[in-house]
Amino acid sequence: MKRINVIIAIFLVVIIFMGTSCKNKIKIPKNPKVYVIGIDGADWDIIDPLIKQGKLSFFKKLKEESSWSRLKSFRPTLSAVIWTSIATGDTMIKHGIVDWLFVKENNIKVPYSNAEKRVPSIWEIFSNFGKKSIVLHWYVTYPPDHIKGVMVSDIFSVAMSEVFFNNKDYKDFKDTVYPELYYNKMYRLLKKELTDNNIGYKEMLKYLEIPDYIEIYKKTYNEENAKRIPILSNWRMYILKDYIAEKTLYYFLRKSKFDMLLWYSRMPDVFKHFASIFMDKTYLEKINKLLASKKPIPEKTEKEFEAKLSPVVEPILKHKEKLLKAIYEKAKKENAYLIILSDHGFTLTTKGYDHHGLEKRIKAPDGILMILGPDVKKNHEVKASVLDITPTILYLSNKPLGKDMDGKPIIDAFQVRRKITFKKYKKKQKIKKKENKEINKKIMKDLKTIGYI
Ligand SMILES: [Zn+2]
Repeated sequence: MKRINVIIAIFLVVIIFMGTSCKNKIKIPKNPKVYVIGIDGADWDIIDPLIKQGKLSFFKKLKEESSWSRLKSFRPTLSAVIWTSIATGDTMIKHGIVDWLFVKENNIKVPYSNAEKRVPSIWEIFSNFGKKSIVLHWYVTYPPDHIKGVMVSDIFSVAMSEVFFNNKDYKDFKDTVYPELYYNKMYRLLKKELTDNNIGYKEMLKYLEIPDYIEIYKKTYNEENAKRIPILSNWRMYILKDYIAEKTLYYFLRKSKFDMLLWYSRMPDVFKHFASIFMDKTYLEKINKLLASKKPIPEKTEKEFEAKLSPVVEPILKHKEKLLKAIYEKAKKENAYLIILSDHGFTLTTKGYDHHGLEKRIKAPDGILMILGPDVKKNHEVKASVLDITPTILYLSNKPLGKDMDGKPIIDAFQVRRKITFKKYKKKQKIKKKENKEINKKIMKDLKTIGYI
């Protein structure tokens, strides 16, 4: 009997040892590369019905290979506020970007800029560790921080629409990119395409693989132009911005060495703000009647609405799959981590299909999150909020978490447990506020078009 006990004990020790050594076999990179891909306004309530119909096969693959979440967002669900929370790990009270605009002296309203941020963003923290980041089009990044790496601010594409649509001098907007050398590179890249190769609205649509919604609108509603729909009357500008966002991303994917790349896209958010006009007319009339009655919308009706809206949004998401595939393959080769997320979803309210200005009883609609990488659990649902992204990047990069940060690392997404330490991160560089009145006017027009202000 005793001998049997000894044999069992040895057997158990061997099993436990094998278990731990198997766990240790998951190799995690000491200095991992990280990709953060922001898709404004994307939500599972539109993506999941499409996956079910076999339509977004790459989103399906990503979800199956990731730790994913219905990413919790916060009210007021303003994109500029939330994307700043994502990049800092802090609530708006701490990071200081609390709205689209603030009142300056003489009662003039101006857009919030990078100069109003009170805490460091993840790329500044990385820079102070000697790590190089590429930051592309992220909200509230003008004037860009002087970091190790490159920052193409959110104002860059606005500036380019001024240069290419309104014949403004490109030299006037040099400070929208840091370092300036990359402003010149980005400008030349776009000039070659837009001017030398004569790429216009139609060619951009072809490249982005989306239908001509202006034409569809005119046909469907028998109208001569699309002026009745503010976003459509400004649609060429949004298409240019989307085109610029993609071209700059591919440029940096090919060219640069970096530790982290953050990229932001305004689509599908912009499209979802007016997408319902392309739904079946009789159904839309029924929904509009219900909204006009101001009664709360039953969950069943919202589900049905989103299922019917998803094929309308499909082309916008389908094209983004191509870009996600290019990043996914690169990240896989480099043993890197890939984080795909949105800032919020949309919901059907008495005001319409939206995400801001919601009635008090409605919580902020959830966004999406997918984390992929060397030791990330697959097909695994995790609980997470927009505040948890920066702490998670620090955690998987083996760097101390911010002592005052409001978010927590999403430990449950990873198979290997990292050591947790803390550090107080402070803003080291103060960015001087710069104002370009022309650009501010454009931003205000843009915000009015979407109905944000
Ligand atoms: Zn948004």
